[in-house]
Amino acid sequence: MLLKTTAVCPACHGPLSDAPACARCGVAYGSLDGVPVLMPGADLGAIDLRATGGALPTYDCAHMGIGVIDDALARGDRILELGAGLDVHDSGNVVKTDAFVYPGAQLDLVADAHALPFPDASFDFVFSLAVFEHLHSPWIAAREMARVLRPGGAAYTLCAFLQPLHGYPDHYFNATESGLGRLFADDFEVLGAGPSRHCPHRESLVPLHRMREMAVAVRDDRAAGWRTRLRAWRLDHALGRASHELFQIADDAIARPAGFAAWRQIAPAVEVHAVRRAA
Ligand SMILES: [Zn+2]
Repeated sequence: MLLKTTAVCPACHGPLSDAPACARCGVAYGSLDGVPVLMPGADLGAIDLRATGGALPTYDCAHMGIGVIDDALARGDRILELGAGLDVHDSGNVVKTDAFVYPGAQLDLVADAHALPFPDASFDFVFSLAVFEHLHSPWIAAREMARVLRPGGAAYTLCAFLQPLHGYPDHYFNATESGLGRLFADDFEVLGAGPSRHCPHRESLVPLHRMREMAVAVRDDRAAGWRTRLRAWRLDHALGRASHELFQIADDAIARPAGFAAWRQIAPAVEVHAVRRAA
């Protein structure tokens, strides 16, 4: 296995052979396109989304304008990214994992955030972007992030707050800033939790787009009365106008205290930055 860090068996934390298989508990692991799949009993067909995966955005974690990630890269931290999706970043510092393989993915290994295949205290910085809402038990993932971090190491997580249902392939929990901070409170000192400026404003427009689709369904139904259809036509038009204008002024609004206070209640994502406590 070509890996930037030592991986271990996620079931027992025993050493892995090249197969890969666990030298301690004997579990054998598969691979997809040469990328080890370190998830016991994984259904390779179910996690391989290269033919069916939704249109995920491509990004580079070093160019997101997220200060704590930039700082960790600049320090030369050993970095783990959970749910790396289509992160194209390529440096020896960042180990990129995801539980699914999307079209164009460049992962180091496939792993489950609930059972990470890394020894205790093997990273200086762990982060995830828009992943926690897709975890069936995010409190377990937060505990695993703490386990693989050295004491004093830091975690950064960005999670959906007011976002509608979205892929890929499941969406379980959105978080408030209090809820996300609480996930990290047991094992970390939480330095900050709040609305995130790193989720694009277009996410806030999705409910308006869905309302437009509701309006259009009525507008185009010839069986509906003409007054109802006219009202639906007006609603579609007004929402289209509203979403365009909101997108234009969102940054200006957030720059003002009253605008920020209002946006905080409907922000598309929240984030937490926390430092691993000494055991
Ligand atoms: Zn094992």
